Amino acid sequence: TTANPFIDTYFKTGTLDFLPEGHFIDGAFQRPSHNRTMESLDPGRGEAFGTFTAGTADDAAAAVDSARSAFEKSWRDTAPVERARILQQASELLMAELERFAIVESLDSGKPLNEAMGDTKGAARAFAYYAGACDKLEGASFPLGPDYICYSIHEPVGVAAQIIPWNFPLSTAARGIAPALAAGCAVVAKPAEQTPYTCLMLAELLSRAGLPNGVFNVVTGTGLEIGDPLTRSTGIDHITFTGSVQTGRKVMQAAAEDITRVVLELGGKSPVIVLEDCDRAAALDGVLGAIFENAGQICSAGSRLIIERGLHDSFLQDLVARTKALTLGHGLRDPNVGPVNSAEHLAKIDGFVSRAKDRGASIVAGGNVTTDPETAAGWFFEPTIVDAVAADDELAQEEVFGPVLTVQVAEDAEHAAVLANDCQYGLVAGIYTSDFKTAHRLARTIDAGQIYINEYFAGGIEVPFGGNKKSGFGREKGIEGLKSYCKTKSIAAKIS
Ligand code: NAD
Repeated sequence: TTANPFIDTYFKTGTLDFLPEGHFIDGAFQRPSHNRTMESLDPGRGEAFGTFTAGTADDAAAAVDSARSAFEKSWRDTAPVERARILQQASELLMAELERFAIVESLDSGKPLNEAMGDTKGAARAFAYYAGACDKLEGASFPLGPDYICYSIHEPVGVAAQIIPWNFPLSTAARGIAPALAAGCAVVAKPAEQTPYTCLMLAELLSRAGLPNGVFNVVTGTGLEIGDPLTRSTGIDHITFTGSVQTGRKVMQAAAEDITRVVLELGGKSPVIVLEDCDRAAALDGVLGAIFENAGQICSAGSRLIIERGLHDSFLQDLVARTKALTLGHGLRDPNVGPVNSAEHLAKIDGFVSRAKDRGASIVAGGNVTTDPETAAGWFFEPTIVDAVAADDELAQEEVFGPVLTVQVAEDAEHAAVLANDCQYGLVAGIYTSDFKTAHRLARTIDAGQIYINEYFAGGIEVPFGGNKKSGFGREKGIEGLKSYCKTKSIAAKIS
C-alpha cells in the first residue's frame, strides 16, 4: 500500500472511478450516438485502465461549431479583466486538485508521479501567468504627423485548435489553451489518443472556474479521425500542433489549403555541451535529468552529450555509475524512471538501439528492453548510454524519444558548437562551463530556440519557447505566445 487512497484503489481494482467519459462540447460531457470507444492503457502494467470516446469527423465539426458560436456570441467581447478572473480561478482549482490530476496524468502517460505533480503545477502556473496578461495586451500609436491619429489593437484570431502529444498531455494543453483564452479565442483541443483524460478533466475544471459554455471544447480520438479534419476545417483560424515532424508536415499542408495560421512544435535531438572548466556536479545532474526525465520522451531532452576530450573518461565513469543506480518502476510508485508510453514506442526505441548494436556500438549502460522489477510487467527500456557515436550515425541524427544518450567527443568549445549544429533539429542546447564568455559565445553560435547555461530545462512560462530548423517555428509561452493568438489591426484616421 501507499500513502494515497486513490493509488491504493487503483492497484486493487485496475481502474479509477473518476475518469471522464465522452467529448466535452458546449460546456458538458457528451457521448455521441455512434458510441465508439478506445481503450487507454497503463504503460506501467501494459493493460487497459479505462475507455474513452473514439470520435469522428462529425464530432470534430460539432466542437468547432460550438467554439465558433461561443467566440462570436460572447468570448471575443468579454472584458479582459473578466477573462483574467476565470483563468486565475482555473489556476487555483488546479492547485487544489493537484493530486487527482497528477495521478491520472501519471497513469495515462506512465511518467513518475512527482514529475506529473510538477507538470500539473506548471499547468496551474500557465493559467496564472496568462490571467495576469489578459489586461496588458496593449497596442501602440504611430506618429504620422498632426493630421492623423494612428494606433494598433490586438484582436483575438478566432477559433484555435490545439493538437497535443502524449508526452506532456496536461502541460502542453495548458501552455496553448491559457494564452488562447487570454487573447479572447475559443478553443478546440484534441489530446493524443494515448493520453486523453487530463485534457477532458481540464475542460470540466474550466467550466467550474466560470468559462462560458462552448469556449473550450475537447474531442478525443485518433489523429486521422479527429486531428486531420480539425486541420482542414474552415472554422479553425489557428492551429497549434505539438508532435512529430512527419505529422507536422501534414498539418502544415492541410493548413495551407485555407491559409490557416500554424505554430509547429516538433521534435529535437538536443546537444548538451560539457566543457572541462564546468562545475562537474551540476553538469552530472544536468546531463542525467536532461535525458532520463520522463524516460527521455521530451522534445527538448538532452539526448547528445558533447564532451571535451580531457573530461571524457572520468565524467563518463561517474555518469555510467549514476545511470546504473536509477530505479525503474510503475509511475505511481514514483521511481526515478518510468515506463515508455506504449508497446509500439518501446519497439521503436529498441529498433534504434538494436541497429546501433549491429553496427558495433559501444553501449556503456543499459541497452535493453525490460519490465517493472516488482511485477515483471509494463513497457520499460533501460537507461542507456552509447559512447563514441559518429556525427553522421543515425543515433546522433534521429530523435529516439526514449532514455538513450549518445556521447560525442569535442576537441574544444568551437568544435563542440560545430558538432551541436550538425543536426536537422534546433530546439534546445545545454552548455556547462564556468567561463562566461565561452558560454555566451556558444549561445550565439548554436542554432536552437533555447539555450540553457549551467542548468538544463532552465526557464518557465515567462520565456518564449519553440524550435528552429526541423524543430518547427512559432513561439509558445511568454507574451510572444499570447500574441500568437492575436491579429494586430492598425487604424489610421485623418483628423484635419
Ligand atoms: P504525433 O505527431 O504522432 O502525434 C501528435 C498529435 O497529432 C496526436 O494528438 C495525434 O493524434 C495527432 N495526429 C496524428 N496524425 C495527425 C494528422 N494527420 N493530422 C492532425 N493530427 C494528427 O506525435 P507523438 O508521437 O504523439 O509525439 C511525439 C513527438 O512530439 C516527438 O517528435 C516530440 O519531439 C514532439 N514534441 C514536441 C514538443 C515541442 O514543444 N517542440 C513537445 C512535445 C513533443
